[in-house]
Parts: sequence; structure tokens; C-alpha cells
Amino acid sequence: MKKNVMKKGLNTICTHEGELNDEQFKGAVSPLYMSTSYAFEDVEVKRYPRYFNTPNQVALSQKIAALEHTQAAMIFGSGMAAVSTSLLAFLKAGDHVVLQKTLYGGTYNFVNEEFSKYGIAYSFTNGLEPEDFESKIKENTKVIFVETPSNPLLTITDLEAVAKIAKKHGLVSMIDNTFASPVNQNPADFGIDVIIHSATKYMGGHSDICAGAVASTEEHMDRIFQLAKNLGGSLSDYTVWLLERSIKTMGIRVKAQNNNAQHMAEYLEAHSEIDKVYYPGLPNHPGHELAKSQMHGFGGMLSFELNSKYDASLFQKALQLIKPSMSLAGVESTVLSPAQTSHALIGPEERMNQGISDGLIRFSVGIEEPEDLIADIEQALTKVRDGKIGLKV
Ligand code: PLP
Repeated sequence: MKKNVMKKGLNTICTHEGELNDEQFKGAVSPLYMSTSYAFEDVEVKRYPRYFNTPNQVALSQKIAALEHTQAAMIFGSGMAAVSTSLLAFLKAGDHVVLQKTLYGGTYNFVNEEFSKYGIAYSFTNGLEPEDFESKIKENTKVIFVETPSNPLLTITDLEAVAKIAKKHGLVSMIDNTFASPVNQNPADFGIDVIIHSATKYMGGHSDICAGAVASTEEHMDRIFQLAKNLGGSLSDYTVWLLERSIKTMGIRVKAQNNNAQHMAEYLEAHSEIDKVYYPGLPNHPGHELAKSQMHGFGGMLSFELNSKYDASLFQKALQLIKPSMSLAGVESTVLSPAQTSHALIGPEERMNQGISDGLIRFSVGIEEPEDLIADIEQALTKVRDGKIGLKV
């Protein structure tokens, strides 16, 4: 696996980078500055939450930039605020963007529903090979957008190849790095320009924060900031502070989730009642070798298909420990049907095109003991098989 290349170690950055000193009381953690009103006379920086430059916003941005090996970063009110602001910052009427075919449903929907209003053209790739991206580039293309591993099928895209294509054609390359988190993948090391996260996921890690993050060069971040201050998608300082606290444990959380997901993927793959498992840590996953070369760990997300004799919805309802619940990446294990949730809006035809079946179950593996997760899956399968669904066992 690729080694983390950082001046400080991962967990030291998670814990300390960017922290604010409590000069007054010498407390061990960053103080929280809730002010929305700061002095404008005799100051170097005029601070205001929607200018993304309050003390806590700046501190957390430094931590995220260090984690993603970039010069700068910004925190947003949601992952979609980060995605939409980044894309629109580099696109104007008459421009064109190439996007990976397999994307988070919300990003797909944003592009499909909004871009025509702004006169921005777009193409989705036919596949995930480098030539699938290059063949879609036109004279007016300005941005290439990828997501790897992708939601929900965990497809893997070659970061170095995409970054090279972008540079060759003078384009800005962007990635949604949410599924990997900065613990498992640092796209800037491969030449990707703009790195986007739904911080609602692994950065928050406890299913109680909605936030987004973008990391890039100072030059690119300044361009994103110029639009962001007008669109106004900033995050409240209280949530910024909570997010900083959450990221302190991100390294140990995500590594535990990597281990558990590998364990669960191997268990599910060997299971006679499971038809298919999608996890880049499995040697038979088509992106396994590529993932090994560009990720530090394979991540905590996997998807699987039950044997068709099982009703996926009944199975999820029969689980007792693993929660059928929206979103992902919390310390607690959750499952969901992408067809009913994250990818509901893209419609059945596009879902089929992307290979997302109605029975597909996305599994966000938490930090519980894997034996307990396995016992829960076994009891749920038995319950559905025996028609005892709805009864407490
Ligand atoms: N990107 C990915 C891969 C996601 O899974 C999500 C949400 O599920 C988003 C972006 C959007 O993030 P948010 O819900 O924080 O706006």
C-alpha cells in the first residue's frame, strides 16, 4: 500500500493541526468563538462567518489542508454546498465539464437539474478508463470531475491518469473524496487539483454533523472563495468546532472501519446466500490493484446483493444491531437501499445504466466487533427465511 507522506503523522495532524491556543485559561482544546461580529478598524483581517474566516473556521481549514496535503481548504454547510460551489467556481455559460459516470446521486442530480439553467454543458463518461474521460473532452471543456471509490458500487478511477489528462488539456481536475476520507486517499499526491468532501461522513464520523470541505492550492481556493461568499454556504462556528473535535479521532476511527469492512466483505463473499459483494479490498474487485496503488486503506464502505430469494427491504428491517438508516460513515454500522435513498432521484433507467440494482444494499461498516455484526446478519437472514419478520427474537 502507498505510504502516507506527511511531515507529521496522520493522528498527530488529526489531533493538533490548526488548533487554537486558549491564551486566557490555557485549556487543552481550541476555544469556540461564536461571534458573528468582529472589529473592522485596525485589523488585518475583517472576519465574518460568511467570509469563511472566523477563528474556528480558519483553524479547521488548516487541519483539513494538512490532511489533504494541500495549501488551503474551506469548510461548507454541507457536502453538496462544497460540490456545487467548487464546480460553479470554475464553470461559466458556454463551458463544458466531463463527469464520471458513477457518481453520488445528489451530484448527478445537481448537474442534471441545474447546469442547463446556467448554459453549462456536460458529458458523463461511458466507462472509468482514462480514455473514457479523454474522449469526452471538447474545446470548451474546463473541468474533469471524478469520484473514487464511488457511491454505492465502490468503482475505482485512476487518479494519476485523470490528473495527467487534465493537465494535458489545461483543465481543472476535481474529486469527491468522501468515501475514502483523507485517511485512505490523498488525491493531491497524484496531481488532482480540487479535493471535495461531504464532511457529514468520515470527518464528522458520528452521524450528527452536516458539513462539507474543499482542499486545494491557495489560488484555486481563492477562486472558490470568491463565489462561496456570494452563495453563502458557510457552516456555523459551533458545528465547525464539533467537526474539529470529531476529526481528532478520524485516523483511528477510519482504520478500525477499514479493518472491519475487510472482515465483513470476506465473510459476505464466502456466504452462500450473498450473490455479489462490491469492496475494493477483495482481490477479485476490478479496481483492487489500482486501489492498492493509490489508497492507504480500502475504506469502510461496501455494497452487496442478497440471493434473489430474499427481499432486501425485509432483510434490512430484520436487522437488530445494524441500523437501516440514511447517510454513512458513522461509528455505528448502517445499511441502506441506494435505489430508495441516495440514488432515488436519478430514476430507474440511469440506475440500471450505472449497475445499481433495486436489491443492492450499501453497508457502512462501523467500529463494532465484527462477530456481533455477523451475528446480526445471520439472525436477520434466518428471520426472513423463516417468515418470522416482525417478531422479536
Ligand atoms: N458526496 C458523496 C459521495 C456523498 O455520499 C454525499 C452524501 O451522501 C455527498 C457528496 C453530499 O454530502 P451532504 O449530504 O453532506 O451534502
